[in-house]
Amino acid sequence: MNEFISQLKAIVGDAYVLTDSEATQPYYKEYGGWLEGNGLAVVRPADTQQVSQIVKLCAANNVPIVPQGGNTGLVGGSVPYDGKAIVLNLSRMNKICHFNPDDFTMTVEAGCILEQIQNVAREKNRYFPLSLGAQGSCQIGGNIATNAGGILTIRYGNCRDLVLGLEVVLPNGDIWDGLRSLRKDNTGYNLKQLFIGSEGTLGIVTAAVLKVFPDPGLRETFFIATESMDNVVSLLPVLRDVFGENLLAYEVISREALDCALEYNKAAIEPLAVRAPWNLLVEISGGKHGQYLRQQIEEVLANSFEKHLLNDATIAQNAEQARNFWVIRESISDAVQSRPGKSIKHDVSVPIAAMPDFVRDVTIAVQQIIPGVIAALFGHAGDGNLHLDLVNGEETPVDEYRSKWKQVNHAVYDIVQKYNGSFAAEHGIGVFKTDELVARKSTVEMELMRKLKQTIDPQNLMNPGKVLA
Ligand SMILES: Cc1cc2nc3c(=O)[nH]c(=O)nc-3n(C[C@H](O)[C@H](O)[C@H](O)COP(=O)(O)OP(=O)(O)OC[C@H]3O[C@@H](n4cnc5c(N)ncnc54)[C@H](O)[C@@H]3O)c2cc1C
Repeated sequence: MNEFISQLKAIVGDAYVLTDSEATQPYYKEYGGWLEGNGLAVVRPADTQQVSQIVKLCAANNVPIVPQGGNTGLVGGSVPYDGKAIVLNLSRMNKICHFNPDDFTMTVEAGCILEQIQNVAREKNRYFPLSLGAQGSCQIGGNIATNAGGILTIRYGNCRDLVLGLEVVLPNGDIWDGLRSLRKDNTGYNLKQLFIGSEGTLGIVTAAVLKVFPDPGLRETFFIATESMDNVVSLLPVLRDVFGENLLAYEVISREALDCALEYNKAAIEPLAVRAPWNLLVEISGGKHGQYLRQQIEEVLANSFEKHLLNDATIAQNAEQARNFWVIRESISDAVQSRPGKSIKHDVSVPIAAMPDFVRDVTIAVQQIIPGVIAALFGHAGDGNLHLDLVNGEETPVDEYRSKWKQVNHAVYDIVQKYNGSFAAEHGIGVFKTDELVARKSTVEMELMRKLKQTIDPQNLMNPGKVLA
């Protein structure tokens, strides 16, 4: 193996092959603390040619590769566990290669931090709408590999809707240059979509052509307190009918999730005096001519109040207040993760109309398995995407709570299946959900996925054990 490490160093330079435990530790860290990461080395290439050479070297030596972006993934997909694979970390490949504001496209390297791309777009009066809590550290390559969703999916779609072209290093080291900026291209199979959401199991994304949009203009942000999940479902078409495509975000926050966030982040201020079981954080844009937007929102909220769809609501009066609403929402993940025993997470989606029944059933089920557990429910309600993050209460010892991880996951996913939902809405399968994939997908679907993997990666060197175990 010393010879192999020397060859890696010859490709990227000594400083960019890490092997000692202190230097590699952050790259082997699995976010949830469920598994202990361990790899052969961390390699940090500077460009696509180096990625290709590394992959060829690994193929010749039968060494598996775990592609890694910002390592913010929540399903254990970006870390090796058996000491035999290298981490191929893309963070040095962080250039904006080309920005054409008039064509509404931007070509970027895979290691660009999401927030960096948003900021570059904004400087030219353009808007890159992928938006999520980890945007200060996740990378566009990781976003593409996971088909990330986030808070603006209701308006702009998931990551796969924002990508026009891709460059990918294939498992044999070949470079596929699909960096096209076309909006229409029906020349054969849509290969780009195969790699989007493949979680590093089919190849390494090295660059992408992204869609950017006109600035959405004036925005209004408001916070609603309401009595029931039924109201959360009913208010959505009310807002969509009035504001149409201008409804940018429709986020639900349960009382439990709100309390966790407020306790964790002392700087966050509770927006309303009313303590309701459910809250909504909504953002609406008014385009370039939005001067009557606030008046319209006030009318809709007043009508909804009369119809008992909400208990109270407040519209942010300035950017600082709007930011406070979002800070609450963004604090939830870290808040639940900071609790003893950390959080048992679920990222699921169900048809929007089924959300109330799903929430009722699931809240009962988790209590039966872990007495006293707190169900911090929140998420992208406009997409039917709920995050059920569990926090241990006082009735169950922490070790016992952690030992129930798989059992409670399974019970939740059974209920998801009952309502024709998805047990992996936006975070992917990684290593945590491979058993669920086998259990819940049809034989035909599994067989098709295995054949694709076998065809593209016959040596099974790309992120082995992830997605397809
Ligand atoms: C606080 C917080 C909030 C979050 N909110 C959301 C949310 O709203 N929506 C959402 O979808 N996710 C969310 N996530 C999850 C996570 O941020 C996303 O999955 C993100 O897209 C991962 O990007 P990354 O660069 O960190 O990828 P990593 O974690 O490094 O990798 C994720 C997967 O992609 C593969 N991969 C990474 N880079 C490449 C590449 N260049 N080529 C091929 N494969 C690659 C890895 O092997 C791994 O399987 C959140 C996470 C946190 C911590």
